[in-house]
Amino acid sequence: MPTVANLPTPTFTFDPDAPGACVAGVRPYRSGSYRLDAESASGKLIVHNYGHGGAGITLSWGCAAKVKGIVQSHIAASHETEVAVLGAGVMGLTAATLLLDLGLTVTIYADRMPAKTTSWKAGGQWAVSIVKYDGKEQELKDILKTSYETFKCSIGKGFGVVERPNYSPIPAENLEVVMRLVPRLLPPREFLERLPFEHHTQSGYKYQTLLIEPPTFLQRLEQDLRQRGVTFVQRKLASSSEVVTSLSQTIVVNCTGLGAQTLWHDTKVVPITGQLAMLPPQPALQYLYSKNGYLFPRSDHVVIGGTYQEHVNNETPDKALCKLLVHYLAAQFGKATPIPIPDVHVHHPRNARMVDPTTPAMLFPIDSPERQALVRAT
Ligand SMILES: Cc1cc2nc3c(=O)[nH]c(=O)nc-3n(C[C@H](O)[C@H](O)[C@H](O)COP(=O)(O)OP(=O)(O)OC[C@H]3O[C@@H](n4cnc5c(N)ncnc54)[C@H](O)[C@@H]3O)c2cc1C
Repeated sequence: MPTVANLPTPTFTFDPDAPGACVAGVRPYRSGSYRLDAESASGKLIVHNYGHGGAGITLSWGCAAKVKGIVQSHIAASHETEVAVLGAGVMGLTAATLLLDLGLTVTIYADRMPAKTTSWKAGGQWAVSIVKYDGKEQELKDILKTSYETFKCSIGKGFGVVERPNYSPIPAENLEVVMRLVPRLLPPREFLERLPFEHHTQSGYKYQTLLIEPPTFLQRLEQDLRQRGVTFVQRKLASSSEVVTSLSQTIVVNCTGLGAQTLWHDTKVVPITGQLAMLPPQPALQYLYSKNGYLFPRSDHVVIGGTYQEHVNNETPDKALCKLLVHYLAAQFGKATPIPIPDVHVHHPRNARMVDPTTPAMLFPIDSPERQALVRAT
């Protein structure tokens, strides 16, 4: 077997009490599928674009292009010139960007400005994680293609996008799904007899994908929007009727993520909390790594994540969980004593239970065979 040179090993020094070391974000998951459609309410066109779970960054440009298409067809007949975008996360900012290209005057209304959104907290891998698309295969294919190509074109242009290999000892379902839906969009995966890391003896896979650094990406989108005359209004909207009656714009694009649960009484929207451990940056690491959790070396931090707490809507970081998560990843690189494969933390409202509160809630996509097996086993 040819010798494979090892890539640099991460350093796992981690102080969960350091400011900003632990972060918790809540994914806006929607059962069945994300919502991307339009309705009319009291003479207004409402375009919905929310519920993208753990893949909002990934799908953003493709969904924004669909929103643009819907609005473009509408204004061809109505000649309206103003649009309200609700939400300043990635879905709102990308939709607003493409709506400007239609010559519309865009106003963004949001309770939280970009730096306070879930989007800002995302890990940033371009992958289809924790999102359902029942009955929407064709639409998702278009979205993936547009999104990937748009991100790829923005490499090196200040949007925080780079190409990276992702090494995984097991098939990465969130990238495999892209290969099934849009063959040849991503470069082919490679099977490796041994992963190129110290202490790794097992085989694995090398994928090629993109890493999008959310703080850089969102900051750039916001800056460009402001320069192009978009107004940001900090405002919490209480109900869909307030949206319809109080906003002057007759076209409204609803990109409120988890907020759509109350704003639009959408009971399909489910919070899924994820914990992230933010380690100091390590520029020598030019790869992503994933196995029941992930390690994304970015220019601002090495982000370790992959926990999954369904029906939990809590942005207070769980320091103990973050510490365990770092330990689990460190053990895979021979830098900590191995601990058993952490279990899935199952928390259904009808059947609330926790497998073991001392082990991390690891990430398996909803309905994945691994997750189902673990749920059955408990
Ligand atoms: C830990 C973690 C890791 C992740 N990693 C990745 C990843 O690697 N790759 C990836 O693609 N995705 C990832 N995601 C998923 C991604 O972050 C989300 O899918 C995405 O942020 C959703 O964007 P959004 O714009 O819909 O929602 P948000 O970013 O939550 O923005 C919603 C906006 O709507 C506003 N709003 C809501 N309700 C109201 C209201 N009533 N009135 C006024 N304004 C309102 C909010 O203030 C906010 O401005 C991750 C998420 C988490 C939590």
